[in-house]
Amino acid sequence: KRIITTELMDEDLKIEQNLRPKLLSDYIGQAKAKENMKVFIEAAKLREEPLDHVLLYGPPGLGKTTLSNIIANEMGVNLKITSGPAIEKPGDMAAILNNLQEGDILFIDEIHRLNRQVEEVMYPAMEDFVIDIVIGKGPSARSIRLDLPRFTLVGATTRIGLLTSPLRDRFGVINKLEFYTLDELTDIVKRSACVLGIDIDEKGAVEIARRSRGTPRLANRLLKRVRDFAQVKYKGDITKEVADYALDLLDVDKSGLDKNDRKMLLAMIEKYNGGPVGLDTLAATIGEESGTVEDVYEPYLIQLGYINRTPRGRTVTSLCYKHFGIDCSNDYTN
Ligand code: ADP
Repeated sequence: KRIITTELMDEDLKIEQNLRPKLLSDYIGQAKAKENMKVFIEAAKLREEPLDHVLLYGPPGLGKTTLSNIIANEMGVNLKITSGPAIEKPGDMAAILNNLQEGDILFIDEIHRLNRQVEEVMYPAMEDFVIDIVIGKGPSARSIRLDLPRFTLVGATTRIGLLTSPLRDRFGVINKLEFYTLDELTDIVKRSACVLGIDIDEKGAVEIARRSRGTPRLANRLLKRVRDFAQVKYKGDITKEVADYALDLLDVDKSGLDKNDRKMLLAMIEKYNGGPVGLDTLAATIGEESGTVEDVYEPYLIQLGYINRTPRGRTVTSLCYKHFGIDCSNDYTN
């Protein structure tokens, strides 16, 4: 696994548990989603009603699970966590729904991966808080309707485009999570260092943030890795010098790119004259699946302004040429 992957790695598990902010006021950045949630939470509390169903979408590691925990905390209700691929049969979903209590939040991660039959159970559950269960088989089969407690579904997805419209339309609140700015990520690094009892100066925090691909999960992972270097090679404190040294050794460059990103971008420049190049071809240059490149690696490169998606394929931009110190004046795609 690449150290810069924003997907959850085993080494993140313990640290993330301690670092998760518990309240909306501790949740750094995402001003729009936060403001939105604040209003909906306050309104639901005033009306003493469960919160409307919420859909959170955006690349991995940006805080979807964290935000759903916060929503449950702020509402003062229980949170039950599951994921799209974990629920195989309609009966499994019916059992989960039936075990919820009034006002509870059901968090379904990777909700775009619910299978069709399971998804169909969700429609009446979300809309009218009922499920229809078929009892028996063949001619004697009959359907009974079960009332459910009024719950809130919080769905999370990295691929909003794969959600069917009947499911998407049943969410009252839809929030897109954005990549974090350098300032926001710096604050996250400083907060995490404080929670973990790590001494870090401003410039050290900025350096880790700069290389974290706009993603808190990665910022926390890199902080932890840099701490190891600081303890072994330096006096323990994280300064810019320590962060530079450690992150260069880990092969995460000043823009947060690793060997594979560079390989992919350089192939686009050198082999394909800056593009357009098809997604599958790009994925093949670094030995990844197209879906992973599209969902996990590409959004950050687009956010950085290094590549563009065009109908004919991906192209690199002049900023990307600049990153590599290559003259792009001969290139007609920019
Ligand atoms: P996702 O569910 O989108 O993949 P997570 O909610 O698991 O991402 O976030 C990964 C980690 O990043 C969390 O454990 C948390 O420590 C940190 N994190 C995410 N968002 C924030 C935030 N807004 N402020 C502070 N830390 C955050």
